[in-house]
Amino acid sequence: MSDNLYDRLCPGSTPEAPVFRAEDGTRWTRADVADLAGRFAAFLGQAGAGAGDRVAVQVEKSPEAVCLYLACLKAGAVYVPLNTAYTGAEVRRILDDARPRLFVGGAAMIAALGAEGLPPDCAALPLDARAEGSVLAAARAMPPLAETVPLGGDDPAAILYTSGTTGRPKGAVLSHANLLFSADSLVPLWGMRADDVLLHALPVFHAHGLFIAINTALRVGASTLFLERFTPDAVIRTLPDATVFMGVPTFYGRLLADPRLDAGLCAGMRLFTCGSAPLSAAVHEAFRARTGHTILERYGLTETTIVASNPLDGLRAPGTVGYALPGVDVAVRDRDGRPLPAGTVGELVLRGPNVFQRYWNLPEATAAATTGDGFFRTGDLATIAPDGRIAIVGRAKDMIISGGYNVYPQEVETALSRIEGIRDSAVIGVPHPDFGEGVVAVIEPEEGRAPPAADVIVARLAGELARYKLPKVVVSMPSLPRNALGKVQKNDLREIHRAAFG
Ligand code: ATP
Repeated sequence: MSDNLYDRLCPGSTPEAPVFRAEDGTRWTRADVADLAGRFAAFLGQAGAGAGDRVAVQVEKSPEAVCLYLACLKAGAVYVPLNTAYTGAEVRRILDDARPRLFVGGAAMIAALGAEGLPPDCAALPLDARAEGSVLAAARAMPPLAETVPLGGDDPAAILYTSGTTGRPKGAVLSHANLLFSADSLVPLWGMRADDVLLHALPVFHAHGLFIAINTALRVGASTLFLERFTPDAVIRTLPDATVFMGVPTFYGRLLADPRLDAGLCAGMRLFTCGSAPLSAAVHEAFRARTGHTILERYGLTETTIVASNPLDGLRAPGTVGYALPGVDVAVRDRDGRPLPAGTVGELVLRGPNVFQRYWNLPEATAAATTGDGFFRTGDLATIAPDGRIAIVGRAKDMIISGGYNVYPQEVETALSRIEGIRDSAVIGVPHPDFGEGVVAVIEPEEGRAPPAADVIVARLAGELARYKLPKVVVSMPSLPRNALGKVQKNDLREIHRAAFG
Protein backbone atom coordinates (compact mmCIF):
# COMPACT_ATOMS: atom_id res chain seq x y z
CA MET A 1 0.00 0.00 0.00
CA SER A 2 1.20 3.51 -0.82
CA ASP A 3 2.20 5.84 2.01
CA ASN A 4 1.08 8.96 0.17
CA LEU A 5 -0.30 11.34 2.82
CA TYR A 6 -3.06 12.47 0.46
CA ASP A 7 -5.06 9.26 0.91
CA ARG A 8 -4.89 9.65 4.71
CA LEU A 9 -6.01 13.26 4.66
CA CYS A 10 -8.64 12.91 1.93
CA PRO A 11 -10.13 9.44 2.08
CA GLY A 12 -13.00 8.81 -0.32
CA SER A 13 -15.43 8.12 2.55
CA THR A 14 -18.17 10.54 3.71
CA PRO A 15 -18.13 12.69 0.55
CA GLU A 16 -20.87 14.96 1.89
CA ALA A 17 -19.03 15.80 5.13
CA PRO A 18 -18.20 19.52 5.48
CA VAL A 19 -14.53 20.50 5.19
CA PHE A 20 -14.31 24.27 4.78
CA ARG A 21 -16.56 27.22 5.29
CA ALA A 22 -15.00 30.28 3.66
CA GLU A 23 -15.50 33.83 4.95
CA ASP A 24 -18.02 34.56 2.19
CA GLY A 25 -20.09 31.61 3.42
CA THR A 26 -19.09 29.21 0.61
CA ARG A 27 -19.11 25.63 1.88
CA TRP A 28 -16.82 22.85 0.70
CA THR A 29 -17.57 19.18 1.24
CA ARG A 30 -15.02 16.37 1.12
CA ALA A 31 -16.20 15.62 -2.40
CA ASP A 32 -15.65 19.27 -3.46
CA VAL A 33 -12.12 19.29 -2.03
CA ALA A 34 -11.26 15.93 -3.62
CA ASP A 35 -12.66 17.09 -6.94
CA LEU A 36 -10.62 20.29 -7.12
CA ALA A 37 -7.47 18.63 -5.71
CA GLY A 38 -7.87 15.93 -8.37
CA ARG A 39 -8.19 18.51 -11.15
CA PHE A 40 -5.18 20.46 -9.89
CA ALA A 41 -3.23 17.19 -9.72
CA ALA A 42 -4.18 16.40 -13.33
CA PHE A 43 -3.03 19.89 -14.29
CA LEU A 44 0.30 19.44 -12.50
CA GLY A 45 0.91 16.24 -14.45
CA GLN A 46 0.18 18.02 -17.71
CA ALA A 47 2.50 20.88 -16.68
CA GLY A 48 5.33 18.39 -16.21
CA ALA A 49 5.37 18.49 -12.39
CA GLY A 50 5.63 14.79 -11.58
CA ALA A 51 6.73 12.82 -8.52
CA GLY A 52 9.57 14.61 -6.71
CA ASP A 53 9.27 17.82 -8.74
CA ARG A 54 8.89 20.99 -6.73
CA VAL A 55 5.90 23.31 -7.04
CA ALA A 56 6.47 26.69 -5.39
CA VAL A 57 3.36 28.56 -4.34
CA GLN A 58 2.99 32.14 -3.14
CA VAL A 59 -0.73 32.85 -2.96
CA GLU A 60 -3.21 34.39 -0.56
CA LYS A 61 -4.91 32.01 1.81
CA SER A 62 -8.04 30.36 0.40
CA PRO A 63 -9.69 26.91 0.25
CA GLU A 64 -8.48 26.72 -3.35
CA ALA A 65 -4.88 27.27 -2.18
CA VAL A 66 -5.26 24.37 0.27
CA CYS A 67 -6.62 22.21 -2.57
CA LEU A 68 -3.48 23.05 -4.55
CA TYR A 69 -1.36 21.83 -1.62
CA LEU A 70 -3.37 18.61 -1.49
CA ALA A 71 -3.01 18.24 -5.26
CA CYS A 72 0.77 18.34 -4.93
CA LEU A 73 0.59 15.50 -2.40
CA LYS A 74 -1.74 13.54 -4.67
CA ALA A 75 0.51 14.03 -7.70
CA GLY A 76 3.64 13.19 -5.70
CA ALA A 77 5.05 16.70 -6.28
CA VAL A 78 6.85 18.53 -3.49
CA TYR A 79 4.91 21.52 -2.18
CA VAL A 80 7.00 24.63 -1.47
CA PRO A 81 4.83 27.33 0.15
CA LEU A 82 6.25 30.85 0.23
CA ASN A 83 5.46 33.64 2.64
CA THR A 84 3.08 36.08 0.94
CA ALA A 85 5.20 38.96 2.27
CA TYR A 86 8.32 37.85 0.35
CA THR A 87 9.62 40.39 -2.13
CA GLY A 88 10.68 39.54 -5.67
CA ALA A 89 14.31 39.17 -4.56
CA GLU A 90 13.36 36.80 -1.73
CA VAL A 91 11.13 34.68 -3.98
CA ARG A 92 13.82 34.58 -6.62
CA ARG A 93 16.40 33.34 -4.10
CA ILE A 94 14.13 30.49 -3.07
CA LEU A 95 13.25 29.58 -6.67
CA ASP A 96 16.95 29.43 -7.49
CA ASP A 97 17.43 27.06 -4.56
CA ALA A 98 14.31 24.87 -4.90
CA ARG A 99 14.39 24.81 -8.74
CA PRO A 100 10.64 24.16 -9.09
CA ARG A 101 8.88 23.05 -12.26
CA LEU A 102 6.12 25.49 -11.54
CA PHE A 103 5.71 28.73 -9.62
CA VAL A 104 2.12 29.67 -8.78
CA GLY A 105 1.86 33.26 -7.60
CA GLY A 106 0.30 36.67 -8.01
CA ALA A 107 0.28 38.41 -11.38
CA ALA A 108 2.54 41.25 -10.18
CA MET A 109 5.12 38.83 -8.77
CA ILE A 110 5.08 36.78 -11.97
CA ALA A 111 5.63 39.93 -14.03
CA ALA A 112 8.52 41.00 -11.77
CA LEU A 113 10.16 37.56 -11.91
CA GLY A 114 9.58 37.28 -15.66
CA ALA A 115 11.38 40.56 -16.28
CA GLU A 116 14.53 39.04 -14.79
CA GLY A 117 14.03 35.63 -16.36
CA LEU A 118 12.71 32.62 -14.46
CA PRO A 119 15.02 29.78 -13.43
CA PRO A 120 15.43 27.14 -16.18
CA ASP A 121 12.47 24.75 -16.69
CA CYS A 122 10.24 26.77 -14.38
CA ALA A 123 6.87 28.01 -15.61
CA ALA A 124 5.03 30.73 -13.68
CA LEU A 125 1.25 30.93 -13.56
CA PRO A 126 -1.35 32.75 -11.47
CA LEU A 127 -3.87 30.83 -9.35
CA ASP A 128 -6.74 33.27 -9.53
CA ALA A 129 -9.49 32.20 -11.97
CA ARG A 130 -9.94 35.84 -13.02
CA ALA A 131 -6.35 36.11 -14.27
CA GLU A 132 -5.44 35.05 -17.76
CA GLY A 133 -4.02 31.55 -18.08
CA SER A 134 -4.76 30.76 -14.45
CA VAL A 135 -4.08 27.38 -12.90
CA LEU A 136 -7.60 27.36 -11.49
CA ALA A 137 -9.29 27.90 -14.86
CA ALA A 138 -7.07 25.33 -16.58
CA ALA A 139 -7.56 22.74 -13.82
CA ARG A 140 -11.33 23.18 -13.78
CA ALA A 141 -11.42 22.32 -17.47
CA MET A 142 -9.65 18.99 -16.88
CA PRO A 143 -10.97 15.68 -15.54
CA PRO A 144 -9.65 14.95 -12.03
CA LEU A 145 -6.66 12.64 -11.65
CA ALA A 146 -8.25 9.39 -10.50
CA GLU A 147 -5.37 7.64 -8.75
CA THR A 148 -3.10 9.08 -6.08
CA VAL A 149 0.55 8.68 -7.13
CA PRO A 150 1.97 5.84 -4.97
CA LEU A 151 4.89 6.90 -2.77
CA GLY A 152 6.94 5.69 0.15
CA GLY A 153 6.66 7.35 3.56
CA ASP A 154 10.16 8.83 3.27
CA ASP A 155 9.40 10.58 -0.01
CA PRO A 156 9.36 14.35 0.32
CA ALA A 157 5.96 16.01 0.70
CA ALA A 158 7.03 19.60 1.21
CA ILE A 159 9.97 21.93 1.55
CA LEU A 160 9.34 24.70 4.04
CA TYR A 161 11.80 27.53 4.16
CA THR A 162 12.46 28.60 7.76
CA SER A 163 11.38 32.15 8.23
CA GLY A 164 14.95 33.25 8.71
CA THR A 165 14.59 34.82 12.14
CA THR A 166 18.10 33.60 12.81
CA GLY A 167 19.68 33.82 9.38
CA ARG A 168 19.14 33.05 5.73
CA PRO A 169 16.12 30.79 5.06
CA LYS A 170 16.91 27.09 4.78
CA GLY A 171 14.59 24.63 3.03
CA ALA A 172 13.46 21.92 5.45
CA VAL A 173 12.44 18.76 3.58
CA LEU A 174 9.49 17.05 5.30
CA SER A 175 8.34 13.60 4.22
CA HIS A 176 4.85 12.14 3.91
CA ALA A 177 5.57 10.01 6.99
CA ASN A 178 6.81 13.03 9.01
CA LEU A 179 3.56 14.87 8.39
CA LEU A 180 1.34 11.85 8.97
CA PHE A 181 3.04 11.21 12.31
CA SER A 182 2.39 14.79 13.45
CA ALA A 183 -1.29 14.72 12.50
CA ASP A 184 -1.78 11.25 13.97
CA SER A 185 -0.13 12.35 17.22
CA LEU A 186 -2.24 15.46 17.60
CA VAL A 187 -5.62 13.82 17.06
CA PRO A 188 -5.57 11.86 20.34
CA LEU A 189 -3.40 14.39 22.18
CA TRP A 190 -5.90 17.20 21.68
CA GLY A 191 -8.97 14.96 21.59
CA MET A 192 -9.76 16.06 18.03
CA ARG A 193 -13.08 14.74 16.74
CA ALA A 194 -14.97 14.68 13.47
CA ASP A 195 -17.56 17.07 14.93
CA ASP A 196 -14.94 19.66 15.89
CA VAL A 197 -15.03 22.98 14.09
CA LEU A 198 -11.58 24.56 13.80
CA LEU A 199 -11.42 28.33 13.58
CA HIS A 200 -8.43 28.91 11.29
CA ALA A 201 -6.82 32.35 11.29
CA LEU A 202 -3.16 31.35 10.75
CA PRO A 203 -1.27 31.73 7.49
CA VAL A 204 -1.06 28.53 5.42
CA PHE A 205 2.52 28.96 4.19
CA HIS A 206 3.89 27.91 7.59
CA ALA A 207 3.99 24.57 9.45
CA HIS A 208 1.61 25.77 12.18
CA GLY A 209 -1.27 26.81 9.91
CA LEU A 210 -0.80 24.08 7.31
CA PHE A 211 0.49 20.95 9.00
CA ILE A 212 -0.63 21.37 12.60
CA ALA A 213 -3.98 22.97 11.87
CA ILE A 214 -5.16 21.91 8.40
CA ASN A 215 -3.63 18.40 8.30
CA THR A 216 -4.92 17.50 11.75
CA ALA A 217 -8.44 18.73 10.99
CA LEU A 218 -8.47 16.84 7.67
CA ARG A 219 -7.07 13.69 9.25
CA VAL A 220 -9.86 13.49 11.82
CA GLY A 221 -12.56 14.72 9.45
CA ALA A 222 -13.24 17.95 11.36
CA SER A 223 -14.44 21.03 9.50
CA THR A 224 -12.64 24.35 9.30
CA LEU A 225 -13.91 27.92 9.40
CA PHE A 226 -11.52 29.63 7.11
CA LEU A 227 -10.52 33.22 7.88
CA GLU A 228 -8.39 34.88 5.23
CA ARG A 229 -6.33 36.52 7.93
CA PHE A 230 -6.38 37.13 11.65
CA THR A 231 -8.30 40.14 12.86
CA PRO A 232 -9.88 40.34 16.33
CA ASP A 233 -13.13 41.33 14.60
CA ALA A 234 -13.27 38.27 12.36
CA VAL A 235 -12.32 35.90 15.19
CA ILE A 236 -14.85 37.40 17.58
CA ARG A 237 -17.57 37.16 14.91
CA THR A 238 -16.79 33.49 14.22
CA LEU A 239 -15.86 32.08 17.67
CA PRO A 240 -19.47 31.17 18.55
CA ASP A 241 -19.52 28.72 15.60
CA ALA A 242 -16.22 27.02 16.49
CA THR A 243 -14.94 24.47 19.00
CA VAL A 244 -11.15 24.71 18.52
CA PHE A 245 -8.85 27.69 17.92
CA MET A 246 -5.12 27.43 17.19
CA GLY A 247 -3.18 30.65 17.66
CA VAL A 248 0.12 32.37 18.25
CA PRO A 249 0.80 34.60 21.27
CA THR A 250 0.06 37.85 19.39
CA PHE A 251 -3.42 36.57 18.47
CA TYR A 252 -4.22 36.10 22.13
CA GLY A 253 -2.74 39.46 23.11
CA ARG A 254 -4.84 41.22 20.48
CA LEU A 255 -8.01 39.34 21.39
CA LEU A 256 -7.54 40.33 25.03
CA ALA A 257 -7.32 43.97 23.98
CA ASP A 258 -10.90 43.67 22.68
CA PRO A 259 -13.53 44.05 25.39
CA ARG A 260 -15.96 41.85 23.44
CA LEU A 261 -13.86 38.78 24.31
CA ASP A 262 -15.61 37.15 27.27
CA ALA A 263 -16.74 33.80 28.65
CA GLY A 264 -20.09 33.96 26.83
CA LEU A 265 -18.40 34.34 23.45
CA CYS A 266 -16.27 31.24 24.16
CA ALA A 267 -19.06 29.13 25.65
CA GLY A 268 -19.05 26.63 22.77
CA MET A 269 -15.27 26.36 22.62
CA ARG A 270 -13.49 23.19 23.64
CA LEU A 271 -9.84 24.08 23.13
CA PHE A 272 -7.51 27.03 22.59
CA THR A 273 -3.93 26.12 21.64
CA CYS A 274 -0.90 28.36 21.28
CA GLY A 275 2.55 27.94 19.78
CA SER A 276 5.26 29.25 17.42
CA ALA A 277 6.59 31.65 20.07
CA PRO A 278 6.57 31.84 23.88
CA LEU A 279 3.23 32.69 25.48
CA SER A 280 3.69 35.07 28.37
CA ALA A 281 2.38 34.07 31.75
CA ALA A 282 0.50 37.39 31.85
CA VAL A 283 -1.48 36.59 28.68
CA HIS A 284 -2.05 32.99 29.82
CA GLU A 285 -3.49 34.23 33.09
CA ALA A 286 -5.51 37.12 31.62
CA PHE A 287 -7.09 34.80 29.05
CA ARG A 288 -8.18 32.36 31.73
CA ALA A 289 -9.57 35.12 33.91
CA ARG A 290 -11.55 36.63 31.02
CA THR A 291 -12.83 33.50 29.27
CA GLY A 292 -12.57 30.64 31.74
CA HIS A 293 -10.39 28.76 29.22
CA THR A 294 -6.80 27.72 29.91
CA ILE A 295 -4.70 28.03 26.77
CA LEU A 296 -2.89 24.80 25.91
CA GLU A 297 0.66 25.79 24.93
CA ARG A 298 2.69 23.54 22.67
CA TYR A 299 6.06 23.70 20.97
CA GLY A 300 7.36 22.90 17.52
CA LEU A 301 9.68 23.96 14.74
CA THR A 302 9.49 23.97 10.97
CA GLU A 303 11.93 21.05 10.92
CA THR A 304 9.89 18.90 13.31
CA THR A 305 6.33 20.20 13.02
CA ILE A 306 5.16 19.37 16.55
CA VAL A 307 7.46 18.30 19.39
CA ALA A 308 5.72 18.78 22.72
CA SER A 309 2.38 19.76 24.14
CA ASN A 310 0.74 20.50 27.43
CA PRO A 311 -1.86 17.86 28.25
CA LEU A 312 -5.53 18.13 27.34
CA ASP A 313 -6.43 16.69 30.74
CA GLY A 314 -4.06 17.69 33.49
CA LEU A 315 -2.02 20.76 34.29
CA ARG A 316 -1.47 23.24 31.46
CA ALA A 317 1.33 25.06 33.23
CA PRO A 318 2.19 28.58 32.06
CA GLY A 319 5.79 28.95 30.94
CA THR A 320 6.03 25.29 29.96
CA VAL A 321 5.29 23.47 26.72
CA GLY A 322 4.32 20.18 28.34
CA TYR A 323 5.59 16.75 27.39
CA ALA A 324 7.28 15.29 24.30
CA LEU A 325 4.91 13.52 21.92
CA PRO A 326 4.68 9.77 22.47
CA GLY A 327 7.39 8.21 20.28
CA VAL A 328 9.64 11.28 20.39
CA ASP A 329 12.83 11.18 22.52
CA VAL A 330 13.94 14.51 23.95
CA ALA A 331 17.05 15.39 25.93
CA VAL A 332 18.92 18.46 27.11
CA ARG A 333 22.63 18.59 26.31
CA ASP A 334 25.49 20.93 27.06
CA ARG A 335 27.54 22.73 24.42
CA ASP A 336 29.74 19.67 23.95
CA GLY A 337 26.78 17.35 23.55
CA ARG A 338 26.93 15.83 27.05
CA PRO A 339 23.58 14.99 28.68
CA LEU A 340 22.55 17.33 31.49
CA PRO A 341 20.65 16.41 34.65
CA ALA A 342 16.92 17.18 35.00
CA GLY A 343 16.18 20.85 35.55
CA THR A 344 19.46 22.13 34.06
CA VAL A 345 19.38 24.56 31.14
CA GLY A 346 20.89 23.23 27.92
CA GLU A 347 20.11 22.72 24.26
CA LEU A 348 16.98 20.69 23.54
CA VAL A 349 17.63 17.83 21.12
CA LEU A 350 15.16 15.28 19.83
CA ARG A 351 14.80 12.13 17.81
CA GLY A 352 11.63 10.72 16.35
CA PRO A 353 9.37 10.19 13.34
CA ASN A 354 8.53 13.91 13.27
CA VAL A 355 12.11 15.00 12.48
CA PHE A 356 12.61 16.24 8.92
CA GLN A 357 14.75 14.51 6.29
CA ARG A 358 17.34 17.20 5.59
CA TYR A 359 17.92 20.79 4.54
CA TRP A 360 17.53 21.08 0.79
CA ASN A 361 20.91 21.47 -0.94
CA LEU A 362 22.65 22.06 2.40
CA PRO A 363 24.34 18.86 3.59
CA GLU A 364 26.66 20.82 5.90
CA ALA A 365 23.72 22.57 7.59
CA THR A 366 21.96 19.20 7.97
CA ALA A 367 25.09 17.70 9.53
CA ALA A 368 25.51 20.69 11.82
CA ALA A 369 21.92 20.29 13.03
CA THR A 370 22.37 16.59 13.82
CA THR A 371 24.27 15.09 16.75
CA GLY A 372 26.59 12.11 16.34
CA ASP A 373 23.87 9.84 17.77
CA GLY A 374 21.19 11.09 15.39
CA PHE A 375 19.35 13.72 17.45
CA PHE A 376 18.14 16.96 15.87
CA ARG A 377 19.53 20.07 17.52
CA THR A 378 16.72 22.57 17.99
CA GLY A 379 18.92 25.54 18.85
CA ASP A 380 16.54 26.20 21.75
CA LEU A 381 17.58 26.28 25.38
CA ALA A 382 15.29 24.33 27.66
CA THR A 383 14.92 22.44 30.89
CA ILE A 384 13.28 19.07 31.34
CA ALA A 385 11.81 18.37 34.78
CA PRO A 386 12.12 14.90 36.35
CA ASP A 387 8.55 14.11 35.20
CA GLY A 388 9.46 15.04 31.59
CA ARG A 389 7.80 18.47 31.48
CA ILE A 390 9.69 20.80 29.14
CA ALA A 391 10.18 24.54 29.59
CA ILE A 392 11.69 26.54 26.73
CA VAL A 393 14.08 29.14 28.10
CA GLY A 394 14.83 30.81 24.77
CA ARG A 395 16.92 30.42 21.68
CA ALA A 396 20.62 29.71 22.17
CA LYS A 397 21.35 32.49 19.69
CA ASP A 398 19.35 35.00 21.72
CA MET A 399 21.04 34.21 25.01
CA ILE A 400 23.01 37.18 26.30
CA ILE A 401 26.38 36.85 27.98
CA SER A 402 26.90 39.98 30.03
CA GLY A 403 30.01 40.28 32.17
CA GLY A 404 30.41 36.50 31.94
CA TYR A 405 26.89 35.78 33.21
CA ASN A 406 24.18 34.13 31.12
CA VAL A 407 21.01 36.18 30.78
CA TYR A 408 17.97 34.41 29.31
CA PRO A 409 15.89 37.11 27.63
CA GLN A 410 12.63 35.23 28.15
CA GLU A 411 13.02 35.45 31.92
CA VAL A 412 13.39 39.23 31.73
CA GLU A 413 10.52 39.48 29.21
CA THR A 414 8.29 37.49 31.57
CA ALA A 415 9.07 39.94 34.37
CA LEU A 416 8.41 42.89 32.03
CA SER A 417 5.05 41.41 31.03
CA ARG A 418 3.85 41.90 34.62
CA ILE A 419 4.45 45.66 34.55
CA GLU A 420 1.38 47.69 33.82
CA GLY A 421 1.52 49.77 30.67
CA ILE A 422 3.82 47.34 28.81
CA ARG A 423 2.04 45.41 26.08
CA ASP A 424 5.02 43.43 24.86
CA SER A 425 8.79 43.46 25.07
CA ALA A 426 11.93 42.01 23.57
CA VAL A 427 15.18 41.73 25.50
CA ILE A 428 18.36 41.62 23.43
CA GLY A 429 22.11 41.71 23.90
CA VAL A 430 24.22 44.23 21.99
CA PRO A 431 27.97 44.90 22.12
CA HIS A 432 29.11 46.58 25.35
CA PRO A 433 32.65 47.89 25.89
CA ASP A 434 32.99 46.45 29.44
CA PHE A 435 30.57 43.57 29.65
CA GLY A 436 30.92 42.03 26.19
CA GLU A 437 27.19 42.29 25.74
CA GLY A 438 24.81 44.65 27.48
CA VAL A 439 21.14 43.93 28.15
CA VAL A 440 18.71 46.16 26.26
CA ALA A 441 14.95 45.98 26.83
CA VAL A 442 12.80 47.16 23.95
CA ILE A 443 9.27 47.71 25.13
CA GLU A 444 6.01 48.16 23.27
CA PRO A 445 3.68 50.28 25.42
CA GLU A 446 -0.05 49.63 25.69
CA GLU A 447 -1.90 51.43 22.96
CA GLY A 448 -2.67 55.06 23.70
CA ARG A 449 -0.51 55.15 26.84
CA ALA A 450 2.83 56.73 27.52
CA PRO A 451 5.40 54.03 28.31
CA PRO A 452 6.44 53.72 31.95
CA ALA A 453 9.71 55.60 32.62
CA ALA A 454 12.90 53.55 32.21
CA ASP A 455 13.97 53.99 35.85
CA VAL A 456 10.53 52.87 37.05
CA ILE A 457 10.77 49.76 34.91
CA VAL A 458 14.27 48.89 36.11
CA ALA A 459 13.25 49.50 39.74
CA ARG A 460 10.33 47.08 39.33
CA LEU A 461 12.56 44.44 37.78
CA ALA A 462 15.18 44.89 40.50
CA GLY A 463 12.71 43.38 42.98
CA GLU A 464 12.61 40.18 40.97
CA LEU A 465 15.85 39.72 39.07
CA ALA A 466 19.54 39.61 39.87
CA ARG A 467 21.43 42.80 39.06
CA TYR A 468 23.29 41.41 36.05
CA LYS A 469 19.96 40.58 34.36
CA LEU A 470 18.61 44.12 34.59
CA PRO A 471 18.47 46.10 31.34
CA LYS A 472 21.10 48.80 31.15
CA VAL A 473 19.04 50.57 28.51
CA VAL A 474 15.26 50.60 28.07
CA VAL A 475 13.86 51.89 24.81
CA SER A 476 10.30 52.13 23.64
CA MET A 477 8.97 51.37 20.17
CA PRO A 478 5.30 51.85 19.17
CA SER A 479 5.35 48.35 17.71
CA LEU A 480 8.07 45.69 17.74
CA PRO A 481 9.15 44.33 14.34
CA ARG A 482 7.34 41.01 13.81
CA ASN A 483 7.06 38.38 11.11
CA ALA A 484 3.82 36.97 9.68
CA LEU A 485 3.34 34.76 12.73
CA GLY A 486 3.78 37.68 15.07
CA LYS A 487 7.25 36.52 16.10
CA VAL A 488 9.51 39.39 17.16
CA GLN A 489 12.46 39.81 14.79
CA LYS A 490 15.32 40.05 17.27
CA ASN A 491 17.92 40.18 14.50
CA ASP A 492 16.36 43.44 13.32
CA LEU A 493 16.25 44.81 16.86
CA ARG A 494 19.90 43.95 17.46
CA GLU A 495 20.76 45.81 14.28
CA ILE A 496 18.65 48.85 15.21
CA HIS A 497 20.09 49.09 18.74
CA ARG A 498 23.62 47.93 17.88
CA ALA A 499 25.15 51.20 19.08
CA ALA A 500 23.17 51.47 22.33
CA PHE A 501 26.44 51.41 24.32
CA GLY A 502 28.45 53.57 21.92
P1 ATP B 1 14.32 30.47 11.88
O1 ATP B 1 14.28 29.03 12.22
O2 ATP B 1 14.82 30.74 10.51
O3 ATP B 1 15.07 31.26 12.90
P2 ATP B 1 11.64 30.78 12.88
O4 ATP B 1 12.06 30.93 14.27
O5 ATP B 1 10.45 31.60 12.54
O6 ATP B 1 12.82 31.04 11.86
P3 ATP B 1 10.17 28.35 13.15
O7 ATP B 1 10.59 26.97 12.82
O8 ATP B 1 8.90 28.86 12.64
O9 ATP B 1 11.34 29.25 12.63
O10 ATP B 1 10.12 28.56 14.70
C1 ATP B 1 10.54 27.60 15.61
C2 ATP B 1 11.00 28.27 16.87
O11 ATP B 1 9.91 28.96 17.50
C3 ATP B 1 11.49 27.31 17.92
O12 ATP B 1 12.82 26.92 17.67
C4 ATP B 1 11.33 28.11 19.18
O13 ATP B 1 12.43 28.99 19.37
C5 ATP B 1 10.09 28.95 18.90
N1 ATP B 1 8.88 28.38 19.54
C6 ATP B 1 7.90 27.67 18.96
N2 ATP B 1 6.94 27.36 19.87
C7 ATP B 1 7.35 27.88 21.04
C8 ATP B 1 6.80 27.90 22.37
N3 ATP B 1 5.63 27.35 22.66
N4 ATP B 1 7.52 28.52 23.33
C9 ATP B 1 8.71 29.10 23.05
N5 ATP B 1 9.26 29.13 21.83
C10 ATP B 1 8.59 28.53 20.84
